[in-house]
Amino acid sequence: MSSASPGLAPQLTLNNGILMDQLGFGVYKVPQADTARLCGEAIGCGYRHIDTAALYGNEEGVGTAVRKFLSTGDHQRTDLFVTTKVWNESQGFTATLRAFEESSIRLGLDYVDLYLIHWPCPAKNLFPETYKALERLQSDGRVRAIGVSNFKQAHLEKLLQETSVVPAVNQVELHPWLQQQDLRRFHDRTGIRTEAWSPLGRGAVLSDPDIGRIAVELGKSAAQIILRWHIQCGNIAVPKASSPERIAGNMDIFNFELDQEHMSCISSLDRGQRIGSDPDDIN
Ligand code: NDP
Repeated sequence: MSSASPGLAPQLTLNNGILMDQLGFGVYKVPQADTARLCGEAIGCGYRHIDTAALYGNEEGVGTAVRKFLSTGDHQRTDLFVTTKVWNESQGFTATLRAFEESSIRLGLDYVDLYLIHWPCPAKNLFPETYKALERLQSDGRVRAIGVSNFKQAHLEKLLQETSVVPAVNQVELHPWLQQQDLRRFHDRTGIRTEAWSPLGRGAVLSDPDIGRIAVELGKSAAQIILRWHIQCGNIAVPKASSPERIAGNMDIFNFELDQEHMSCISSLDRGQRIGSDPDDIN
């Protein structure tokens, strides 16, 4: 892990050498009309990584916020990291290349930092072909890194057998109630970074009594405790929040540490409990 510049998140090096901020701003369910404002708010608080998807219907708002940030002349495109994802209906080599062009136009960016397959959709069995389109986009310089989302180990094993580029990232549901220990170990063995979606369990884990106790002990919010746990586990996390206070508070986690006892306590909260869908059920 590289050390954070003041006010910014630490960065992790991906398996192709590029850097990715460990904390990003997720915009699932952020209405298009609010996206540019909330992303601007996040960037103002030091977030330099935004996580969107074709599905979210707000790539235009993300692009607007990025261009506004760049328009001051004080920053470069390389200061920001933008992820988007190919939706399930656009899987397949040609359809994925077309979907990328459409995302790229909506974002209004010359390149995307990370392009992910949103779900494996195993019954369709198109993900290896879809991934080959991502490999093409990377070799053409349209995306800096490629990866997957919601892949279980079996899906990753098939992908590694049938394609050439090891995914830089697998973005999966991950929070204290669903810690994905085996999958994280597999990622570590294969050089894939673990990225947590719904890192706060879509808000549900904030009410966990042990998290609450640690928060009181350290004078932090429950969200700050959970996000700090992700950072110390080595996860990338993309919390979503709708108010300036929450957006700022979720970023303000780089001035304290959880000790071994707190980390072990949170590790003991794993219940294998999904809030979202099981990837085998989405097709
Ligand atoms: P999160 O775990 O980020 O939780 C968001 C919820 O927590 C919202 O209800 C938010 O409320 C609340 N919240 C956030 N911060 C605080 C705080 N400090 N105090 C109290 N409540 C807080 O869940 P998401 O499902 O939104 O996931 C985050 C991101 O992960 C998404 O935006 C998306 O980018 C990604 N994702 C990816 C998926 C995939 O399949 N690849 C699937 C789902 C998500 P409020 O908004 O009202 O402030």
